[in-house]
Amino acid sequence: MSQRQREEVVVIGGGYAGTLAAIRLAGRARRRVHVTMVDPKTEFVQRLRLHQVATGQRIAAPAYRKFFGRKVDLVRGWAEEIDSDAGAVRLADGSRLPFDRLIYAAGSTIDTFSVPGAAEHAYRLNDIPSARRLDHALRYSGEGREVAVVGGGMTGIEMATEIAERYSHLRVKLVTSGTLGGWLSDRARDYLRQHVGRRGIELVERARVQGVEPRHLTLADGSEVPFGLSIWCGGFVASPLAANSGLEVDELGRLAVDRSLRSVSHPQIVAAGDTAGTPPFVAGAPLRMCCQITGPTGAQAADTVAAEVRGREPKPLRFGYIHQPISLGRRDGLIQFVDRGDRPTKRMLTGRRAALYKEVISASAVPAIKFERWVPGSSVWPFKEPKAETVAELPATAGS
Ligand SMILES: Cc1cc2nc3c(=O)[nH]c(=O)nc-3n(C[C@H](O)[C@H](O)[C@H](O)COP(=O)(O)OP(=O)(O)OC[C@H]3O[C@@H](n4cnc5c(N)ncnc54)[C@H](O)[C@@H]3O)c2cc1C
Repeated sequence: MSQRQREEVVVIGGGYAGTLAAIRLAGRARRRVHVTMVDPKTEFVQRLRLHQVATGQRIAAPAYRKFFGRKVDLVRGWAEEIDSDAGAVRLADGSRLPFDRLIYAAGSTIDTFSVPGAAEHAYRLNDIPSARRLDHALRYSGEGREVAVVGGGMTGIEMATEIAERYSHLRVKLVTSGTLGGWLSDRARDYLRQHVGRRGIELVERARVQGVEPRHLTLADGSEVPFGLSIWCGGFVASPLAANSGLEVDELGRLAVDRSLRSVSHPQIVAAGDTAGTPPFVAGAPLRMCCQITGPTGAQAADTVAAEVRGREPKPLRFGYIHQPISLGRRDGLIQFVDRGDRPTKRMLTGRRAALYKEVISASAVPAIKFERWVPGSSVWPFKEPKAETVAELPATAGS
């Protein structure tokens, strides 16, 4: 098949999901597609390590070119609209990228939109520049400065414990609307509380933050939590691009998809990562925005497109959860093992072994993407079909 007959596939977003999808598709359907990925950056950001960047640690940021070679074209830009009727992505500089098929992997950001003042007065971990700004502020914080981390999900826990380990002279507060680790097993929750206590982190629980002022948080009960520096870790919000482009989205703004991750309103668009809605599983749990789904959905998006360009019906996504790995600084960790439906089991791993486990998981993403370039389709995940009854009682998602 000549270059001219190859289908144009555009991938929006070079996070874990989009980067994997782009290189896997370029390898698996080499003669049938031409793949272009669009992202404002030229380097891959290991987003799950941003709390490490914010505490002064050096993190590798490989150039996309190292992943792609000549297999995928990279366009540096910001997608402002998906014009599905015309089959083109409109970029912020006014140019247009035509596509026959699209992989939508624009990811998520920390939600600073829902609470007034959060965007203005709190630091956040959305990208390398924002993490470096926080690093600078922490580095030059004097003895006893109060640092309020807002959000008791995994990102907030990882951020607060990383700061407490690194800067023992600071007074770290972890502010959460529920109770700490409320979604974990009893033993795991106890372990987490003990760690937080040992590190001297002050817990402010059942505290719903309604506003962020320059020097304090305002809670729903009218009380205030003073701070010298605040960090907003209050959950993720999906990219608004799909909704703004008139595509059908779910209640979280993620693309509404079928079992092969194709858009239910525009099947030539396939979702991956944090912007993929939950497919109508026969059995399983809702997808939550986390790294655990980015590999399987990125691979699935590539395989769905690869099947379709061959005129075949794509297979459905097969996915089940395994664990919730939480770093507690560099020397401690907590791995809560879960069933395929994301519910905590009695099994857990703690201490240095857990820190090592988490490090291995975090470090595996980049080599896995690189390996796809040489062995397309090499990323596979263990999967066991969950029992059908797990569908009936889906867990509350912990969020990251
Ligand atoms: C500090 C921190 C710690 C975390 N720790 C964990 C953890 O321990 N475990 C876990 O499972 N998850 C963790 N997460 C969550 C995890 O990082 C995300 O779920 C994951 O990165 C989502 O991957 P993605 O590829 O879907 O999207 P993203 O990583 O968000 O990447 C999206 C990409 O799309 C690009 N993009 C966005 N919009 C556009 C546009 N309009 N045009 C062009 N490009 C665009 C962005 O530049 C970005 O490169 C953590 C997150 C943070 C912030």
